This record gives sequence, C-alpha cells and structure tokens, in this order.
Amino acid sequence: MRSTPLHPVARLPEEWSASLAARGERSFTAKQVFHWIHRRGVLDPAAMTNLPARLREHLAAEGLGEVVTPERVHRSEDGTRKLLLRLRDGATIETVLLPSVSGPGSQAQLDADAAAADEEDDEDAEAGAAPRTRVTQCISTQVGCAMGCSFCASGVAGLKRHLGPEEIAGQVLLGRAMLDEGEELRNVVYMGMGEPLHNYEATARSLRLLTHPEGIHLSTRRVTVSTSGLVPEIARLGADFGGQIALAISLHASDDATRSALMPINRKYPLDELLAALRAYPLPRRRRITIEYTLVAGQNDAPAEARRLAKLLRGLPVKINLIPMNPIEASTLGPPGADRVAAFQAVLTEAGYSCFVRRRRGDDVSAACGQLVLLGARPKVRRALG
Ligand code: SAH
Ligand code: SF4
Repeated sequence: MRSTPLHPVARLPEEWSASLAARGERSFTAKQVFHWIHRRGVLDPAAMTNLPARLREHLAAEGLGEVVTPERVHRSEDGTRKLLLRLRDGATIETVLLPSVSGPGSQAQLDADAAAADEEDDEDAEAGAAPRTRVTQCISTQVGCAMGCSFCASGVAGLKRHLGPEEIAGQVLLGRAMLDEGEELRNVVYMGMGEPLHNYEATARSLRLLTHPEGIHLSTRRVTVSTSGLVPEIARLGADFGGQIALAISLHASDDATRSALMPINRKYPLDELLAALRAYPLPRRRRITIEYTLVAGQNDAPAEARRLAKLLRGLPVKINLIPMNPIEASTLGPPGADRVAAFQAVLTEAGYSCFVRRRRGDDVSAACGQLVLLGARPKVRRALG
C-alpha cells in the first residue's frame, strides 16, 4: 500500500462516490468530477463549471490540479514528440507520442508493441469514419529505475522515486490534450523510464484509471506493460486484470549467464522461472506476448543465440521485437551492424516466429528507447533538449 494519501486524480468513481457522499454531496457529483478529470482532461477545479462553488473549493483544498506540467516539447523529424514533464516536487520525467507511420516497414514501428491488438484492428475500423492518425504514447512509471540494466540509461541513473498513479495516468491525460489535429490516442505502452512492476500498486491503479469506461476508456488490449521480468508481479498482473493487459517481456538473452550480465534482475528471477510465469499468464485466445530483444553487439547477437531463443520460446504464444541497441553515453555497448540484425531475424522467422526489427524513432531528440533519462544526469540529453 502507498503510505501517502490518494491524490484526487488517482481516485476511481466509486471512491469519489464514497468521499463525496460523506460530505453530503448528491450522488451524481462523483461521476461529474471523474468525467471532468478523466474524460475531459480538466484538472483545475475552478474550471469545473457545473459543480457547486463549495465543492470546487473543497477539491482545490484537497490538492486537485495539474500533476504533470509540460516543460518542453521536442518534435523529431519523423513526427515523434518527446515531452519533458515536470512533477510537483520538481523531478522530471519524459513521455513520448509516436504517430503511426504507414508505408514500408511500418509493421516494425514502436506501436507494433501494442500489437496484441493489431490482429483485431480491422474489426474496429468504423465504416465511413475519417481516417485518423493513430498515436501510441510511451509513459514512465518511475523517476529513474532500480533494475540497473547495463544498456539502459534509466538503469544507469538509478531509482530516484516511484511515480504516483496520478502521475502515471496524468501523462496520458496530458498527452491526449497535446495531440495534433486528426490524431487519436490509440495505444499506451509502459516503456518509458522505470520498471512498472517494481511500482506495482501505482501501475495497477493507473491501468484501472486509463481503462475505466467513464474515463479515457482505453481498451485493455491496447495497453501494454513492459517488464524486465518481475515474476511475482507478472502473476499478480495476470490475476488482477484477468490477462487482459497486454504484456511485453524484456528478454534480451537466451541463457542465464548472458541475461544476468545484461540484466541483474535475472539473478533473482532466472529464465526458467520467467518462462514459467509467461506460460501461466492468463492470456486471452488469439493474443500474444511481446518478447523484446535488444541486440547488443558481441553480447547477445550471434546466430546461435537466435537458435537458442527459438528453442526457448517454443510453444509460447509470442511475437518478437528486435531492437538494435540505441547507444547511451554511460556505456561503450552498442548495436550490431544491419547484416547481423538481419541474420538474427532470419533465424527466428525461419523458425516460424513473427519477428520484427523495431525502427529507431525520435533519435534526433533522444526519445528512442532507453534514452529517456533524468534531465541533468546526462549532459548529452541536456544538449539535445537545449
Ligand atoms: N523497465 C521496463 C520498461 C521500460 S524499458 C522494461 O525493461 O521492460 C522499455 C524497453 O526499452 C525495454 O525492452 C528495454 O530493455 C529497452 N531498452 C532500454 N534501453 C535500451 C537501449 N539503450 N537500446 C534499446 N532498447 C533499450
Ligand atoms: Fe529499468 Fe527497463 Fe531500463 Fe532495465 S531496461 S534499467 S528494467 S527501464
């Protein structure tokens, strides 16, 4: 349980009902308040014009207001926008908006990570509706990260603090408000800074808020939680949401020695335990788990490792995303050449897996994966933001 009191933005409608009924408010005000915050994205009580003045004052006194403030927006040439957000205590996080790109190679873009939903996309196409650009938002769950993966800038920075559920959901409320004309927020991926399952309570509550029918109402299958492999919390997520939340696993290796060298968490939860957790995840029919595999030159990119990976994943409903490592300043590790990436992919494709190479997006604003770092901690990013 969180020791701090629940922020008003983190309250679910039934919790609003309880707190407002205790104040003698009429029953429908709970829904009105939740609508203002989560459907309309209005967090300033003064703007909630259909509420009585005394209630607006009470909400302000409870601390209802903006939880994340955009400090800078950086637009990449490929349409990706990185938002630098300031939290109330002054800490900064980042979130990224990724418009879908059509044309050759589009299957390999980041929003393919939310693609537990992809195969069902067509079912949702509304006849006659104007085509809208689908946007995937990548959100953070912690300031920094405690997991210490060697190739990741967030891991190198270490954990500064967890985000509250209002700060996690608040990124999406803000991201939605900052969409361009003709864009539609379609997918949310928990792939920014931090390990979502290390901050389980806040992550789970944010999932409830974002998927609530009275709020943004994202479809659960379009929300993907990415984890480095916290086995007990994978089981918990599966049980709490009936397997409906799409799952992505950062695997990055096919044997324990290699994985432990890249990802210290593997020493706690080795591959056999992780794979058992994936087999036990109550995945709905026709859905697949995304396996993320960051290719690091000389570490995990040999064709023999692709063959071992194919064997390891045999029988699991998965799709594989290969991510050539984005260089980070704190490490000499780097991506393999294109030939080696293609050879790795070919082994997996020939073994019958659907396997894509994720295109690098937003590189020019350091918005690519693993580059969402703490402002001030990495001079390179400061320059890029300046
Ligand atoms: N902590 C979670 C989610 C955030 S990381 C997790 O690890 O899954 C999102 C993805 O980006 C992970 O698959 C992670 O391994 C990958 N990543 C991190 N740093 C990277 C880098 N420098 N290059 C490429 N991918 C990276
Ligand atoms: Fe944390 Fe994920 Fe980065 Fe590992 S890859 S350090 S778990 S954010």
